[in-house]
Amino acid sequence: MEEISLHYAPRETGWIEVICGCMFSGKTEELIRRLRRAEIARQSVSIFKPRIDKRYSDDHIVSHSDDRLKSVVVDSALEIPPLCKDAHVVGIDEGQFFGMELVDVCESLANEGKRVIVAGLDQDYRGKPFEPMPQLLSIAEYITKTLAICMVCGNPADRTQRKIHQGDRVLVGAKDIYEARCRKCFVPPAE
Ligand code: ZN
Repeated sequence: MEEISLHYAPRETGWIEVICGCMFSGKTEELIRRLRRAEIARQSVSIFKPRIDKRYSDDHIVSHSDDRLKSVVVDSALEIPPLCKDAHVVGIDEGQFFGMELVDVCESLANEGKRVIVAGLDQDYRGKPFEPMPQLLSIAEYITKTLAICMVCGNPADRTQRKIHQGDRVLVGAKDIYEARCRKCFVPPAE
């Protein structure tokens, strides 16, 4: 699904869209593109990101190509519902850094009639499903998987290769620490 046309969008109900993929695949760019279009259509848009992501800019969601939109930084997914009561559209970036609470939050926002768009990594640096993204994919109406280009061979890439040895699941960084790899070139870390 490239875009939900306004003509075909569900009526009088909310829904969930998930944009997932590896790093450098354009997830945040795609999220920003959809949110901008909603703003152009004069819909009320609320945008959130978890506090853990201190890259580049504190109160914006920012793509690797430096496209940005103003967002609210929250410590927990539970802070989101009271902050977006009047929103038609709720955008959430870096969904993988929220806990499993994000699943129920998205479900109830969609049940209230909101369009909920979540972007996030669907695999961690080991190539394993990165909760809560798998659970969100299961309950979403619309799913987009963005692919990057493998830094080694140029194939379409869906994995995030960590270039340094560090065992924490969350290690914030960009091109200095990570690169996109395809299935063939991805090397999972030694356990
Ligand atoms: Zn490759």
